[in-house]
Amino acid sequence: MTAANASATPDRVKEIAATLSELYPDRWALLLLPLCRRDCPHEHAGRACKSPGKVPVEGGWNVVAVARWRSGGDCTAYLRRIVQHLAAGGNVGLAVPPGVVVLDADTPDAVQWLACAVPDSPMQVTTRGAHFVVRVPDDLGTTAAAKIEIAPGIAVDVRAGGRSQIVCEPSVHARGAPYSWKCQLPEILEELPLCPPMILNAISAPKRNEGTGARDQKVGEGERNSYLFKFACGMRARGKSRQEIVGALREENSRHCAPPLSDGEVETIADSAGRYLAGARTHEHCSSALEDALAELIRG
Ligand SMILES: [Zn+2]
Repeated sequence: MTAANASATPDRVKEIAATLSELYPDRWALLLLPLCRRDCPHEHAGRACKSPGKVPVEGGWNVVAVARWRSGGDCTAYLRRIVQHLAAGGNVGLAVPPGVVVLDADTPDAVQWLACAVPDSPMQVTTRGAHFVVRVPDDLGTTAAAKIEIAPGIAVDVRAGGRSQIVCEPSVHARGAPYSWKCQLPEILEELPLCPPMILNAISAPKRNEGTGARDQKVGEGERNSYLFKFACGMRARGKSRQEIVGALREENSRHCAPPLSDGEVETIADSAGRYLAGARTHEHCSSALEDALAELIRG
């Protein structure tokens, strides 16, 4: 499809560099990795590539990327290589740093759920769904990469910090669809929203609670109000009516809160979310971008 080197003119190189500096501010750019070719057959360790355009081309990439990101030194030469790689038609990945997880939703239902649960998260649209980037507490340690069921029949893949990467803009999928950030990464990592509690519980205690895992994924006392409030704000920011919000909150409450809040409490949360956002729609830009992205996905 793209002939190697054909487009690596100085202008093209400048254009790519400008794109990267806008999309990956501050130290995010140091987490970029060259990935394998999407457009010609090749092998990894003697076997035909099963995911063209998605596999890091260098061994030990996760350790190296995290070290580069931590040191934060002058990485001009490294970034020049990344730009050249893209200019030659290559894809790039973003190594997920420690303290962060990427929630990978590949169905419209899962995207919708996450758009409500973390409405202010950076979001990248992929071929089948979207990536949401969230923060996890420092003391969480190494999280397990896992598939988490967030509601009956709806699952998200958790890409753990320090050991995963996601294909990212300006990469293009082997089938031709571009990856695209609809809500951009913040300059400072601390500005990322926190991982929803239910997913956090599931990834931070994968083994210890075997047998009671289902109950541990519930939102407990002390967390239920803020959890449902945030969920309601997400829906409100996306223009849902009070009636729709109350309906969705009731369902969320009975499925995920243990013990569930009373119906009156749920209605109070819906009302507060309505009042709160009427005065200050802090994530208006992101929310409308999310709306567009969701509409695109739903149209398929
Ligand atoms: Zn490959």
